[in-house]
Amino acid sequence: MNNEYSNETKCIQSGWKPGNGEPRVLPIYQSTTFKYENSDEMGKLFDLEKEGYFYSRLQNPTNDVVAQKICELEGGVAAMLTSSGQAANYYAVFNICEAGDHVVMSSTVYGGTFNLLTVTMKKMGIECTIVDPDSGEEALNEAFRENTKCMLAESIANPALVVLDFEKFAKVAHAHGVPLIVDNTFATPINCRPFEFGVDIVTHSTSKYMDGHAMCLGGAIVDSGNFDWEKYGEKFHGLTTPDESYHGVTYTKKFGKKAYITKATVQLMRDLGSIPSPMNSFLLNIGLETLHLRVPRHCENALKVATWLEQNDKVAWVNYPGLKSSNYYHLAQKYMPNGTCGVISFGLKGGREVCVSFMDHLKLAAIVTHVADARTCVLHPASHTHRQMNDQQLKEAGVQPDLIRFSVGIENADDIIADIEQALSNI
Ligand SMILES: *Cc1c(COP(=O)(O)O)cnc(C)c1O
Repeated sequence: MNNEYSNETKCIQSGWKPGNGEPRVLPIYQSTTFKYENSDEMGKLFDLEKEGYFYSRLQNPTNDVVAQKICELEGGVAAMLTSSGQAANYYAVFNICEAGDHVVMSSTVYGGTFNLLTVTMKKMGIECTIVDPDSGEEALNEAFRENTKCMLAESIANPALVVLDFEKFAKVAHAHGVPLIVDNTFATPINCRPFEFGVDIVTHSTSKYMDGHAMCLGGAIVDSGNFDWEKYGEKFHGLTTPDESYHGVTYTKKFGKKAYITKATVQLMRDLGSIPSPMNSFLLNIGLETLHLRVPRHCENALKVATWLEQNDKVAWVNYPGLKSSNYYHLAQKYMPNGTCGVISFGLKGGREVCVSFMDHLKLAAIVTHVADARTCVLHPASHTHRQMNDQQLKEAGVQPDLIRFSVGIENADDIIADIEQALSNI
């Protein structure tokens, strides 16, 4: 599609392009398999000699259309959907790492990503060094080793709300000849397009703002096409040397800028099978159609709520990168001047117990293990998503024990504030 279009137009028009007489709305290709006229043709698909669908564990047309829309929103060259954000981050890293390799990761990443890298992938022989995203270049450089294969961070960390200094991270990653992978779930391409600041691969949990209605788990991986795998060919041998499971295809030679996504699709999706159902992708696509309307409203409401909280004397602290008092205000202004996200965090005077009691008194805002959808919701990470971490790990992840993660929805901001006010008066 014409990449000159704005993201507002891409939210609606990218992806599905019906031909003459075809359905106006993206069809749900609810089929595990696809029919061929002769055996030879299907054989060519298995050798990657021909492009085409054959089994929905690897690829499905509904999914691919939605991946294409996300690809265009991010300004990338190729993209794929996964069944969850967890699968997206796992594939994004595992596509270029194997046993004996090493990853450098920001300490403030989402708890699920933290576990994935430090527990599960560690068992697979992949080591991870955790870095403070606010450290200087020198400290970041020290984390790299001979066998480092990528650097991983989040554009706005969930739930610490640390805004990434993209250019600093990109500079350090590239100085060590590895790609920078950034999870852009909270900012979304409406507020920030990481490829413009040197990021090589973007991942998403589409379960959050992209779906926006808390209907479907999902993930996405988008490749900028900018990282030169062949320049560091030995390091990324999975992409630059023949894959015997496809009769000796070399991904970078055969697929050029689409090498990374093609490998993740035909190798990881084939073997690990974390593909979304076409029905979920159809629903995700409906969510994407209003992403550009919802995200600014989330940000507007969040700023109102954060500003109100900051002036309330029962509130100990408020963290929202859209507030001038935030340590990340300047980075947010630089990288996402139109807004950050709808999620804010705060603590109440009296600490942990008071926070839990406050949450129990909320009526409009629901306690759920979710974030970043249309309905205002709230979570206490130390008791919920991050409860596996000890106090030191919580601190490093930017999660104080009294941190309340408040995901501001797109209801009327005054109603949300009134709910907070009544809950505060009842604790
Ligand atoms: C939720 C989330 C994930 C995990 O995504 P799921 O869709 O829940 O698997 C990864 N990264 C970030 C930043 C998230 O918020």
